[in-house]
Amino acid sequence: MANSPAAVQRQRVRDLRKGLAGVDREDLSEMKFEIIAPGRNKQRIYSMVDGEPRDITEKNLDAVLGKTLPDGSYEFTAKEEDAPPYVRGQVKCAFHAKSPERESGLLAEAGVASTICPAGNLAHGQAKRVHGEHKHSQETKALTAYLDDQKEERRIEREEQALEAQQAIARAALGGAGEKTKAAKPS
Ligand SMILES: [Zn+2]
Repeated sequence: MANSPAAVQRQRVRDLRKGLAGVDREDLSEMKFEIIAPGRNKQRIYSMVDGEPRDITEKNLDAVLGKTLPDGSYEFTAKEEDAPPYVRGQVKCAFHAKSPERESGLLAEAGVASTICPAGNLAHGQAKRVHGEHKHSQETKALTAYLDDQKEERRIEREEQALEAQQAIARAALGGAGEKTKAAKPS
């Protein structure tokens, strides 16, 4: 699909405004922005996170195009060629209402169940991780920290079990040796 002309124009204005932060007021007054009056037409824009296309009414374009990601970069672009290729999949975001993480009770345990995300068509592979890190960075950090803690607890548990097993073997060996010594004693 061809890029939506109004969306591309709004993006140009957005980027121009950003670039003008360091321009003198005097120069600024001589520059004119020609802006088409916003209408009700839907304009297509693309997520810079996963390339997912969204159709936005013209009057909402400025607000949506102005949204930024946690790293400060823009979340959407009007130019399809600038967005990553969109691969529609069946993977649910961890914070989706019916995600395996939610249904298993993991989100509640980690204290991040209040975040609900509609993304249910992420591609396999890295898409879910990238989506989580960009869209829910705080919750993803909390969830990762919780999982790391659990892993650490399980590791300690396994070490303790291994140590107990070793001690049991040592005791059995000592006991066996004692019996042998006893048995070896002439009566
Ligand atoms: Zn999500």
